[in-house]
Amino acid sequence: MPNPHVLIAGAGLGGLLSADLLLDRGLDVTLLERSAPLGGLAQTDEQAGFSLHRGPRALYRGGALRRLLLAQGIEVRGHVPPNRGVCASRGGDIVPLLGATKGGRWRLLPALTTLWRTSPAAVAHRGVSGWLAEQTRGNAEALAFLQAAVRIATYCAADDLSAEVALGQLQGAARGVLYLDGGWSRLVEQLARKVRARGARIVTEAAVHKLEHGPDGVRLETARGAYEGDAVVLACARPAAQTLLDGALAPAEPAQVSCLDLALRGTCRGPTLVLGIDAPTYLSVHSRVAALAPAGDEVVHVVGYDGAPRAALERVLDGWDPAWRDRVVHVRYLPRMNVTGHLPTGAEGGLAARASSDFAPRVQLVGDWVGPEGYLADGTAHSAEAACHCIAARLHRAPLAGAA
Ligand SMILES: Cc1cc2nc3c(=O)[nH]c(=O)nc-3n(C[C@H](O)[C@H](O)[C@H](O)COP(=O)(O)OP(=O)(O)OC[C@H]3O[C@@H](n4cnc5c(N)ncnc54)[C@H](O)[C@@H]3O)c2cc1C
Repeated sequence: MPNPHVLIAGAGLGGLLSADLLLDRGLDVTLLERSAPLGGLAQTDEQAGFSLHRGPRALYRGGALRRLLLAQGIEVRGHVPPNRGVCASRGGDIVPLLGATKGGRWRLLPALTTLWRTSPAAVAHRGVSGWLAEQTRGNAEALAFLQAAVRIATYCAADDLSAEVALGQLQGAARGVLYLDGGWSRLVEQLARKVRARGARIVTEAAVHKLEHGPDGVRLETARGAYEGDAVVLACARPAAQTLLDGALAPAEPAQVSCLDLALRGTCRGPTLVLGIDAPTYLSVHSRVAALAPAGDEVVHVVGYDGAPRAALERVLDGWDPAWRDRVVHVRYLPRMNVTGHLPTGAEGGLAARASSDFAPRVQLVGDWVGPEGYLADGTAHSAEAACHCIAARLHRAPLAGAA
């Protein structure tokens, strides 16, 4: 009898990880990817020797993605950005974070102590703004600092972001993040090589435009013909999944950012990380931490929230290095990137309100908008584990080792 066959729509990190997990269980796998390149949002573009993410990327050291990659034998090579070299941007000027005084830092301590002692799940129903205001008890400097820290950790400036997400990300960031040498496409390349070598078929430029599922199996129609299988994993980002499921998902808002990605000749004396205190922005010189630029050159990412215009991001750069325009090798503005397809709010109860990965007996969902655990790429990793566990069990195989 042939092995059960699983179709996967989308070959970003979620689709590729799902393929590897399903192959572990002896299932046959075909990946159908809309684009020519693999990797989705985890792509890193090579420009004249520079490696440019589409917006900055930090892998949480204690998160589900790193744990799963390592368990699957994928090398994760990166470095932790140091705390020194972090500054604030206020009124267009670069100033020390928390003022120049030790007193600024001490005044933050009571709020930080409460934050580390609180369980994220306990504040899932709270909007982050009101909750942070309570924790900082009128200390405007501590509030502004924590708001900026939440923005960088969540890629979100919304008042009603669930405090569960904000606190979970802050606690995760305190355990450290990694900037990866060569960028996240190193992960994509390794995963693609591995699943191909194990027999998975990867079909590119094959956008799935129709899904049929029933008791006997699934059928997908793509630009390259129709595919039949025993089950399907939709790992294709929320808008595409919503279309394929005929609008059956409950409505949800995405979290969006605008990014300016820069390849710059030479270096400057500006700080490595600049947190916008009076404006929702941040700037990061990723190449000072990881191997992403030729020696002596720089890769810089600037982020603004909720559709920040290019001019707002350039103002941050002007404060960081007034001569940056003379150094440009390549610059790219990416407006309104979806950092997650479902922004978990306090009003809806946090992460638990996201779609279940187990959509139907033969249809599983994977992505950073799915399931009750993990945010951003860690949500994708958690949902891939849950979805593959469920498929393997349904197709009468042993459950995945180590799956929740
Ligand atoms: C600016 C920015 C910064 C980020 N920073 C971080 C960070 O620091 N840390 C972190 O953990 N996460 C971060 N993220 C989030 C992280 O990049 C994503 O969570 C993760 O890459 C999502 O992977 P995925 O496979 O679930 O989805 P995607 O990467 O969106 O992959 C979906 C794939 O499906 C394909 N597809 C779409 N429609 C179809 C169709 N109809 N048929 C076939 N294929 C289809 C797409 O082409 C794509 O390849 C960031 C995201 C952004 C935008």
